[in-house]
Amino acid sequence: MIRLVLASRNAHKIEELRRMVPTVEWLALPAELGDPPETGSTFVQNAEQKARFAFEATGLWSLADDSGLEVDALGGRPGVYSKRFSPEGRDDTNNALLLRELGDRPPAERGARFRCVIALVGPGGAFSTSGACEGGIGFEARGQGGFGYDPLFLPVATPGLAMAELSASEKDRISHRGAAMAGLPALLAAAGLAPGAPPLVRP
Ligand code: IMP
Repeated sequence: MIRLVLASRNAHKIEELRRMVPTVEWLALPAELGDPPETGSTFVQNAEQKARFAFEATGLWSLADDSGLEVDALGGRPGVYSKRFSPEGRDDTNNALLLRELGDRPPAERGARFRCVIALVGPGGAFSTSGACEGGIGFEARGQGGFGYDPLFLPVATPGLAMAELSASEKDRISHRGAAMAGLPALLAAAGLAPGAPPLVRP
């Protein structure tokens, strides 16, 4: 079985990545290392920085996800700063700030997308792949699933439902993270870890 260090402290991301690819043995980032640094200005830079941090600390192939929400009316913000959009940096305060910034703009002016970059870094180099999920921002929080901006995000693929109202497998099927992880077999092949056999399990 392929073993990869998962360079994240986000429990929700870890859960989603693990359930999407149960065919990989996922190793946790050792607690004493603290949080991986994230100082880049693009999703690719941040994903590679986090995966490289884990690789340099452990010597093992490491995978990181950097993701965020781009809102058209806000010129693509919060983007790579999605986690720290509000000063408090909590999901509820981030969502409240997003609703305030969009005000009463009509649905046609509330277009947005989630983006995700997955980076794999190890002795053979750095490889990355990306995915996106198109949608819009609603007027109120809905649903109990997911995390982050999911209660406000209305995916184009699921009319009438917020991302937080989807089942776990339905979110994985349409999400930016699911789309990026569809590229994992190619990353593993490029890294020389899996010649051929696609390890990805998607509903
Ligand atoms: P990162 O740890 O810098 O990649 O921050 C990602 C941030 O983007 C999260 O803290 C959320 O605010 C947001 N985000 C990323 N993926 C999702 C998702 O699947 N649902 C909702 N929000 C997400």
